[in-house]
This record gives sequence, structure tokens and C-alpha cells, in this order.
Amino acid sequence: MKRVGVFGGAFDPPHNAHLALAQTAIDQLQLDELKIIPTGYAWHKDRPLSAAEHRLKMAQLAFRGLDRVSVDEREIKRDGHSYTIDTLVALQAEDPEAAFFLLIGGDQLAAFTGWHRWQDILSRATVCVAERPLQASAPADVLTQTPALRQSIHLQLPPMTVSATAIRQLIASHTGPLNTSQPDLAGLVPDAVARYISLHGLYQARPTSP
Ligand code: ATP
Repeated sequence: MKRVGVFGGAFDPPHNAHLALAQTAIDQLQLDELKIIPTGYAWHKDRPLSAAEHRLKMAQLAFRGLDRVSVDEREIKRDGHSYTIDTLVALQAEDPEAAFFLLIGGDQLAAFTGWHRWQDILSRATVCVAERPLQASAPADVLTQTPALRQSIHLQLPPMTVSATAIRQLIASHTGPLNTSQPDLAGLVPDAVARYISLHGLYQARPTSP
């Protein structure tokens, strides 16, 4: 049976923990395919996201070196809220025989029972969780409180503190344009993403270009 991973996110910007999580999942779950799905409208984030075209392009740059990975544009192209259940239903209709694995970080596990039709998600995909350091609820607590999630798989990703929020804050607090050699972002995002951010003036307090 084909094993397909589904990894959604704002990817604003995509960073090294996203890459590490993707690679860990491919290896550990023996995925035949991993779909990276940048969200269109993030109903669960309390801030407007960067333009979808930027997030899509950065995701393509970030994940291009990983085998078996593709960036899927369907949520960006879909009007209205990006609900994971809609994406899973569509993917399953396209590939009815495949087994689906939904990859999330521990912060999303803590919020999972607030997701739209979360029980339906569980009937269509196996949830696979990568712990995040400093997250509010430990995964063990969430699993105890939500028996339906006990079937979830723990991804063996070493804890990584990097977050898109911290990267955006770092860039916004930087005085002057980012150096094109990207020393500030080294180790946080892939080089191609750092160059893209710099070129388009993303996340700077005063953008240098549209
Ligand atoms: P933000 O800081 O803007 O909320 P983020 O760093 O959480 O962004 P997203 O694009 O929202 O990045 O994350 C996509 C998925 O990757 C989510 O399931 C999230 O939990 C997971 N993720 C992000 N960073 C990490 C990390 N350091 N460790 C484990 N999972 C992560």
C-alpha cells in the first residue's frame, strides 16, 4: 500500500525544523511520497500571513532537495478557509488505496481537538507528531485527555527550537537590509530561502521591495 505523508503549514517562512521533520517522517514512516501543503487562509493563526505566492515559492525552494517530496498548491488555490479535512478528502479521492500520514508539531497536537472535523481527520489519516521544545502541553497530557489520539505516532525528531515567529522577529529587529550572505539566518532557514527573503525584503520592519 502506498504511504503518503501530508505536511501542512503556513511556511511563513519554511525553516530548518520543517525540513528536519519532513526528512525524519520520510525515513521513519517509510513514506513513498510526502506532500508539503502551504495553507491558503490560516483560520487558526491570529495574524495575516505573507502573500501566498511568497510562501509557495519559499516552500518550493526549501524542500526542493528532498527526495519524494512535492509542494502541493491546492490549499492556496482553494477559496475560503484551509481545512485539513477537505484536503485529506480530496487526496484520498485521488488515491483511494493509499495510507495517509498527517505530520504535525506538538503545538498542533495540543490544539488538535479544535481543528475542524478532527474526528474525521483521524478516520482518514494517522497523526504523526514531532515534539516542540517549550510547548504548553506535553504530548503525553494531550494523549491522556484524548483517547482517540492515542494511535498517533511519535516522530523521532530531536527537539528543535526554531520557529517561523522567531525568524520573522529576528528579521524585523535587524537594522538595515539583511546581508545577502545571510549570516543572520544561517542555521535557521535553507540558504535559498534566506536569499529569497532578502531579495523580496520579507519580514523587515520596512520592506525594501513589494
Ligand atoms: P509560527 O511560529 O508562525 O507559528 P511555525 O514555526 O509553527 O510558525 P508553521 O508553518 O506554522 O511553522 O508549522 C507547520 C508545521 O510544522 C506545524 O505542524 C508545526 O507544529 C510544525 N513545526 C514548526 N516548527 C517546528 C519545530 N521546531 N519542531 C517541530 N514541529 C515544528
